[in-house]
Amino acid sequence: MGALQTEIERRGERIFDLVDRHPESLFSKAGFYQRMMALSMRDEHFKVQLFRFVDVLASLHRGTDIVQHLDEYFADMRNGYAPLIRTGVRAAKIVPWVSGQLLRWNVSGMARQFIAGRNPKDVMKMLRKRRSQGIGFTVDLLGEAVVSEQEANEYASRCLELLEHLGRETRGWTDPLGKNTELFPVVNLSVKISALYSQMNPADPADAIVHLAPKLRPILRRARDLGAFVNFDVESYAHKNATLELFRTLFTETEFRDWPHVGIVIQAYLRDAENDLLDLLEWGRARGTRFAVRLVKGAYWDFEKIKSRQNGWACPVFLQKPESDLSFELLTRILLENQSTVTAAFGSHNVRSIAHAQALAEQLGIDRSRFEFQLLYGMAGPVKRALVEMGYRVREYCPVGELLPGMSYLVRRLLENTSNEGFLRAKFSENVSEEELLRDPADIIAQGPNGARHVEVSADDASLDAPPGDTYQNAPLVNFVYEQNQDRMREALAHVRPQLGQKYPLVINGERVWTDKTIASINPSSPDDVVGHVAEAGIPEAERAVKAARDAFEKWSRTSFETRCRLLERAADIMHRRRFELSALEVFEVGKAWAEADGDIREAMDFCRFYAHEMRLIGRPRLTQHVLGEESYQHYWPRGVAMIIAPWNFPMAILCGMTTAALVTGNTVIMKPAEQSAVIGAMLMEIFEEAGVPPGVLNYLPGKGSVMGAHLVDHKDVDLIAFTGSREVGLRIWESAGKTREGQRELKRVICEMGGKNAVVIDADADLDEAIVDTIYSAFGYQGQKCSACSRLIILEEIYPRAMERLMNAAASLRVGNPEEPGITVGPVIDGKAHKSILNYIEIGKNESRLAFQRGDVPEKGFFIPPTIFTNVDPKAKIACEEIFGPVLSVIKARDLDEAFEIANGTEFALTAGFFSRSPANIERAKAEIVAGNVYINRSCTGAVVGRHPFGGFKMSGGGTKAGGADYLLQFVVPRVVTENITRHGFAPETTPQYRDEFLGPR
Ligand SMILES: Cc1cc2nc3c(=O)[nH]c(=O)nc-3n(C[C@H](O)[C@H](O)[C@H](O)COP(=O)(O)OP(=O)(O)OC[C@H]3O[C@@H](n4cnc5c(N)ncnc54)[C@H](O)[C@@H]3O)c2cc1C
Repeated sequence: MGALQTEIERRGERIFDLVDRHPESLFSKAGFYQRMMALSMRDEHFKVQLFRFVDVLASLHRGTDIVQHLDEYFADMRNGYAPLIRTGVRAAKIVPWVSGQLLRWNVSGMARQFIAGRNPKDVMKMLRKRRSQGIGFTVDLLGEAVVSEQEANEYASRCLELLEHLGRETRGWTDPLGKNTELFPVVNLSVKISALYSQMNPADPADAIVHLAPKLRPILRRARDLGAFVNFDVESYAHKNATLELFRTLFTETEFRDWPHVGIVIQAYLRDAENDLLDLLEWGRARGTRFAVRLVKGAYWDFEKIKSRQNGWACPVFLQKPESDLSFELLTRILLENQSTVTAAFGSHNVRSIAHAQALAEQLGIDRSRFEFQLLYGMAGPVKRALVEMGYRVREYCPVGELLPGMSYLVRRLLENTSNEGFLRAKFSENVSEEELLRDPADIIAQGPNGARHVEVSADDASLDAPPGDTYQNAPLVNFVYEQNQDRMREALAHVRPQLGQKYPLVINGERVWTDKTIASINPSSPDDVVGHVAEAGIPEAERAVKAARDAFEKWSRTSFETRCRLLERAADIMHRRRFELSALEVFEVGKAWAEADGDIREAMDFCRFYAHEMRLIGRPRLTQHVLGEESYQHYWPRGVAMIIAPWNFPMAILCGMTTAALVTGNTVIMKPAEQSAVIGAMLMEIFEEAGVPPGVLNYLPGKGSVMGAHLVDHKDVDLIAFTGSREVGLRIWESAGKTREGQRELKRVICEMGGKNAVVIDADADLDEAIVDTIYSAFGYQGQKCSACSRLIILEEIYPRAMERLMNAAASLRVGNPEEPGITVGPVIDGKAHKSILNYIEIGKNESRLAFQRGDVPEKGFFIPPTIFTNVDPKAKIACEEIFGPVLSVIKARDLDEAFEIANGTEFALTAGFFSRSPANIERAKAEIVAGNVYINRSCTGAVVGRHPFGGFKMSGGGTKAGGADYLLQFVVPRVVTENITRHGFAPETTPQYRDEFLGPR
């Protein structure tokens, strides 16, 4: 064992010894909290329910509501406490008011354990007490998630007020150690950067800095004048780089360059942490004034893991707990070795991490007054006391705020206390031995997964629980948090721009065909700019295309499905290679914001790979039943010539999805993109040509829907029409396809996806932090031009005033502009016609209801529509019934959930819907009662992912088909069964194979 490890153990044992001398439980406040935590640690289900209940509690006002939620969360407990809880709930129902208040009081008690005071005045009592114990403070303002600039400005003012108050109240306070005091001002403020700007977007750190710096400067100036210290907390990974950059930018400014009392957090659980710290140190040396770093492990571990898994991103955090511990120690060394540049604060409750810092400082000859330990208020009290007794500098992190905004903070702390892998639980609840707790994390890692307690083996493998071969792994989204991805997108925009304005021919039977007429596709942000001129097909070209497709069908339908699957996969690979270029083109051609454009290309790749995957599952003839003496195989034949008619709003994904489903099942295709996105359609053709699609199998035929499109829909040689678009055109196609023409071979199949008038319902107990952000995104993301977009918002009366206030402020804060700029949320609508039609609806809305909000500052050039919100909307009003397809939201107030669901379901459409609630019973009701093809609970109602959220509606929203779902391909084929009597003279084989080779003979 090395000398350092020996010293760590010696110091660790000393801390434990001191901790044990003052036997105070981890959960220092006995009673209700202690019992709840004990139960949580024993029972995972109870823990989940408890945290969800605590999360909702603060928003409940009536005793009956509290008891109702209690019942819903705990009544079905199947563990040993069930009778106890049931009795409690029964009793509570008898006197709900008293019980409700009692519960609230108890949970408030839990919250008070972690929240040092409700307001600046309140917190002083606690700070004085700590002062008498030799413990310093840093104060953090708790708040709701900031969804608007108004809320961000309020946070900034509260920071200033807090600073003033602390400055005034601590006058005359001195440093507890009385040594190196110039490094550690008494007043210390921790600032949450995301609370100062509501529109932080990982793709646009520069914009964040432009908005954050002016809000921070007055706070920093005041802090410096007061002799205080300001620390930038670091939150989720998405904002980490912007926070670091902001820190460097501000403190390089002449005004703050020589101010040493500034610090920032480094999260050791991040794989980037070491590089970030080294960069900071280099910056610090160049700056020439010392600064501080608070080293922590990181508070968002679960969140980061979930988010990266959902988006297919590399996980930014270490996946094994000892890796974070080891990283913490490595960074501790870097900090201490650079103590001439940086002042270190170690934010940990883990005795091993603390003892390591102490031992290393000793080894490096650093005086203990030159760094500090920071611990959270309400946690690990005995450890703090022990550190003070050992003569170390201790600072407590003290959150200040009201109970409701503090709830998410409280839940995080509760999770931390009960986390399987946390130090506090191991030491104070599970009584893990000191020796084990002081082990070197490097040894634990070296020993492999079994050497560590509860170590997760591999979290990157999302498919562990599913049977092999039956899972589909989506392509990852581009993570714009990385600078290289931002650069690649910028370069792609710069590369594509000079290529705009080119001419694109039709492609029929593998030949380029030019026509007299062209369609000009324009840039909706800048209508003078032509993105491309595309040859326009008329009736003669349509006839040629049908013939080519019909001729090619003979061979393509008899090509093995594996060959067809590979074609799709090659196309996906090409899209992957050209990903940024294609996204850039979408920014120009259809006005999509960066992430929206990338999402569309990702979805197109997913369609290629997912349908190839699905085709392999259904491609081979499959035995219907095991029957002795006979074999029956069911398989699928393609239908024939497919006409694909696509919209412009997902210009690559939807066109590609319908096309690839037809191709992979063996149909030949005439592909008609929307006129507004015909250049992206040409790109898809180009991609398939490069991938090796045979001549005639795929034909690119842009043209007027009403002329050439209608002609093909009626054509006797077209067997299948896959359409996504407006209800008006969809119904016409549906009707027309029902007529049988002379010479027609097949009954035409129509796969039809139309619009929606999608509702989001906000329940009285909803978490508004989430509901507002997600509703804003659902309603105004891509300018409300997604068929899944929310256009009706139904809010329960009880929560209406607060929800509306936050909603309107959030809408007022949205970034509207040309989406070439990163981080824009609302760009232009697609064209002049749409622009006019939406403005017309806005005028109708002004007569029908109340214009509650409209942005004033949209760009003049381009087809920009200000985000608009109407209230007092009658559910039967035109704006509440007709599809507007723009950034216009109708808000309707509902008395109760019955009425809310009745309104939500009261349209002719049934595409998507959203519901925000924290009542398990109401969530179950929504799952069962909301009439929509895709119902989303507690999340946005847009953004379906291929394979995960098969997408499509019914009623007047579509024919019940589900793009990106397991059944989708079946609509492009006809089923066929071949039965053979395999008995000869009374003899038959015992077994028949489950699958056989395809029937690929001549037809
Ligand atoms: C004063 C102070 C200020 C803080 N400020 C911030 C801040 O600005 N930003 C922030 O994010 N956090 C902050 N924290 C929170 C801090 O990150 C957590 O409290 C801390 O991670 C708990 O670590 P520990 O060393 O006390 O306990 P330990 O029990 O040793 O460590 C628990 C931590 O290990 C990590 N972990 C858990 N499971 C795994 C796993 N399977 N694989 C890898 N790692 C895992 C997580 O980070 C978890 O929080 C602060 C904490 C303190 C004390």
